Amino acid sequence: MIYVWTGLALVGIAATLITFRSFRPAPLPAPAQWTDPLPTASPPADLAIYQLPTGTYENRALFAYRGGAFRDVRKFAATAVLVRHPAGDLLIDAGFGADVEAHIATLPSYRRTPHELGATIRDQLRSTNYDMTSLRGVIITHAHWDHVSGLAELDVPIWMNEAESRYVERAKDAAVFRDVASRREIHHYTFDGPPYLGFPGSHDVYGDGSVVIVEAGGHTDGSVVVFVSLPDGRRFAFIGDLTWQLEGVTLRAERPRMLQILADVRPARVRDSLLQIIALTDRMHVVPAHDIHAYDPIPRWTSSNRRHL
Ligand SMILES: [Zn+2]
Repeated sequence: MIYVWTGLALVGIAATLITFRSFRPAPLPAPAQWTDPLPTASPPADLAIYQLPTGTYENRALFAYRGGAFRDVRKFAATAVLVRHPAGDLLIDAGFGADVEAHIATLPSYRRTPHELGATIRDQLRSTNYDMTSLRGVIITHAHWDHVSGLAELDVPIWMNEAESRYVERAKDAAVFRDVASRREIHHYTFDGPPYLGFPGSHDVYGDGSVVIVEAGGHTDGSVVVFVSLPDGRRFAFIGDLTWQLEGVTLRAERPRMLQILADVRPARVRDSLLQIIALTDRMHVVPAHDIHAYDPIPRWTSSNRRHL
């Protein structure tokens, strides 16, 4: 009799495991890693990047990537990156600005989540006596509120491409952008360069390969990835919201389907770009805009950085 019970128990365990496994979302198929040489870059010796966190907002991992847990509450980073280049500095995204509470109030209630506010980019730059005339502009990865709120206090041109300019004219999710950008000059760039690391068009900002913007639309029409090459040979890919957390890359877990429908204008294109980035993970640091730990290799901008320059 004991054998019967043991057998039944084993069948039960096996059935449970099979059921559990079948509910586990399948990762994206692994793309072949990029093995060709990386595009050439000759960054000047004093090129450097710094992170400027401006705050966080909460989201559950369940809603961030397929297979994420409900109980796993993530703090989504609203962090800008300052690229210091002798030909003029640029920011990548602008974080939370002084009016961020008003910006959050414009969101539908289900998207207003607990948040923590830090100093704005403008205040962080001012408190270190940063020379604002060094700042050429802000490259936005895309025009959503959590990337552009801080533009309100930064009196420099917003760098954007034609597809994103069209997106912000009509998109509901660009209301905050329309508000903050109405007082700003727009610097339009085009993808006038060759294909770059599998992306169809590129724009080499300084002409030395140190900062290259590529076309990666799909989250919004004109979303981009910004590749940065440092003088020590390290490379970074600032991928905006191709995935919200690093698991999108490390586990090849894209956004949950419902969130794709809500967040992406063309989910299939986001998937293609994400796979393109996954193929580069052996070669560079990948930084999804909202993953706090993805910024760990990048030093914080502080007054001590300024003294080296
Ligand atoms: Zn975002």
